[in-house]
This record gives sequence, C-alpha cells and structure tokens, in this order.
Amino acid sequence: MNVPLLDLRAQYQTIKEELDAAVASVIESQYFILGPKTQACEQAIADYSNCAHAVGVSSGTDALLIALMAEGIGPGDEIVTTAYSFFATAGTIARLGATPVFVDIDPTTYNIDPALIADRITDRTRAIMPVHLYGQMAEMEPIMELAAAKNLVVIEDAAQAIGSEHRGLRAGSIGHYGCFSFFPTKNLGGFGEGGMVVTNDPDRAEKLFVLRVHGGKPKYHHKIIGGNFKLDALQAAVVHAKLRHLDGWTAARQSNAGRYDRLFIEAGLAANASADSAALAQPAPLAQITTPRAVTDRHIFNQYIIRVTKRDELKAFLAERGVSSEIYYPIALHLQECFAYLGHARGDFPESERAASETLALPIYPELSEEQAQKVVDEIAAFFRADR
Ligand SMILES: *Cc1c(COP(=O)(O)O)cnc(C)c1O
Repeated sequence: MNVPLLDLRAQYQTIKEELDAAVASVIESQYFILGPKTQACEQAIADYSNCAHAVGVSSGTDALLIALMAEGIGPGDEIVTTAYSFFATAGTIARLGATPVFVDIDPTTYNIDPALIADRITDRTRAIMPVHLYGQMAEMEPIMELAAAKNLVVIEDAAQAIGSEHRGLRAGSIGHYGCFSFFPTKNLGGFGEGGMVVTNDPDRAEKLFVLRVHGGKPKYHHKIIGGNFKLDALQAAVVHAKLRHLDGWTAARQSNAGRYDRLFIEAGLAANASADSAALAQPAPLAQITTPRAVTDRHIFNQYIIRVTKRDELKAFLAERGVSSEIYYPIALHLQECFAYLGHARGDFPESERAASETLALPIYPELSEEQAQKVVDEIAAFFRADR
C-alpha cells in the first residue's frame, strides 16, 4: 500500500459529475475571463469569509501582489512579515522594490510571533503581512492593535487557511486584505492557477478591481498602472462548485489529524498534545516527534506537520516504504540566496531555522483512509525502532 501526500484524483472521483458539469457550462458559454461565473464565485467566497467584497485574481501570489500595489507599496517601504513561509510572502514584497522585514515564529504554531513585531517597526514600515501557516491563523489581535497604533495596513496571507477561524473571526476578514490561493494542492483548489483578495473596505475593493485589469477605468483609460491579474471563468466555476464541499473536507482533515494524534500517542511516539504546553516543552521520555498543536478555534489542517530532529533521514525512510511526505519549507526566508542583500546570517531567526530543519508534512487529505494513516504511523514507529 502506498500513501501519497495528496490524492486529487480520489477527490475528483467523489464529485466528478458536478465538476464536469461546471467545466462544461464554461465551455458552452465560451465566456472564459471574468464574467458571471467569476462574479458568482467572488460572491460565494466573500460570504464564506464573512467579507463584504472579493476580487478574483490569477493566483495567490498575485493576490498578495495586488494588495500591496493597492497600497502603493514601493521602494523605501518596509513590510513586516514572518521569516518562515512559502516564498511568495516575501517575494511579492521584494518584487515591488519594498523591503521584507522578517520576524521569527512561535515554535508551537509556526506562525509569526506577535511579541517580536513591535521591535521591527520603523518609520518606514507600511504594512504587516502575517501568514496563517498550515491552516491555523496567526494571532491577529495583537497584530491589529499594533497596526492601529502605528497606522499600518494588515494583509493576511491566508493562502493555506480559507475557512480557518479564531474567536469567531474568519481568516481574511480581520486585516485590511485577506489573500487566498486556489492552487490545486490548497484546501480549495482549482484546475489551474487562481486566487482571490477579500476586503471589507469598498474603496480598497474598487482599487483592486481596477488594478486587476491593468489599472484601466473606464476601459483603455489608465490613471494607474495595474497588471493582468484576472481570474478565469473555468477556475471560478470549479472553485465555486468545490466550495460546497469544503466544510466536509475540512471536517475530514480535522478528523484525520485527531486520528494521527491518537495513533502517535498509542505508539509511544508523541507526548499527549492535549496536555498543557509545559508537557510539550518537555516531551515524555519515549516521545520522538512533536505533533501539531491547534491553539485557535478552527484549524483547517492544510498540512499536518510533525517536528522531528532526524527529519531528512525519516523522510527518506518513509519514501522507501511508500509513504510520501514533504518539507514546507527547507530554507527560512531570510537565508534564501536572493535575499542575501538584506544581510541576514544564520542564527538571526532561530525558531524559523529550527522549523526549516525539523518539520515534516504527512498525508492529511480528506480521503486518507484509516489503514493508510495506520501505515504512516507504523512506518514512523519502525524508523525509530531501528534506532536511527
Ligand atoms: C500557496 C501559497 C501562496 C501562493 O499561492 P499561489 O496560488 O501558488 O501563487 C502564498 N502564500 C502561501 C503561504 C502559500 O502557501
């Protein structure tokens, strides 16, 4: 039995008719870019995220980029963000000529540590870009307080967190902008590239709509410079059709996470994660791995991340035994070669660096069977029994 990291074909089989019909209706209409399908998807995502407005764009990366553009971010501006995320978070900032200013993470959640943000704010800071990594929201309350006090814009990178919640608030609805990705491997994925920006501010929404079409309004009259950031109708139709199933898939991911937690404790591989954080800081003698900890109300488990010191050896061992796993992400952002000009060194953000060398994503997709989960845990147990 092989266990893939993700099985999109299994998901497709469960709703094939609906998705085929959604695609066929776009083909029938021959209306491919923006239009009624995109508008319907935007309305549905706005509603789902408890936001007033949603603007469909060409990718999650472009969602971040267009939000920064809407704020006129450019050279000389500093954007405070996490040192541990997918590249796009920092890449979009740098592409506009602005400076990504990194902050270390909370080692329990892997999200930006809000207590460390204030020290990184200067009179050039324009925005804070927290990431809701792996499907769990960053601590938004202190971030929003700080932003209000310093008059900063907050752009939520919610590419991994659509539908996640804390204190009754949905990812994307708290900051000035929330950015989603419909990359196929995200919890809500299209049949290609796609993304969306949500906001509660009608003026910001208007600016996003104009920037998306090269800044032209009316058409061919350009007061501002935008780009081609349009969402196509095919992606919108697929995403909209899949949205009806998202809560069911989220429940399955959460249940898979709970099952892993139990199996790891039973196997003597993990300390009881539901115990208090002191227990986690000092794992039980047998514990070899740290399982993820949900500290917010609705963790949607885009990834199920374990922490293990012999990470690379474990990953190779699992691959040999037919279990796929992945490293998100092997290099912290401040140590990426392209950011050498920022002058960072190893040791600057120790928790981000430690996460980059210790985290491993295990298969958590909704269709994962109990036998498959058991196999993943059995093989990990076998790795440690061999005393590597
Ligand atoms: C996937 C992802 C993005 C970018 O989304 P794309 O649709 O692939 O461009 C940005 N930030 C994070 C945290 C992501 O996981």
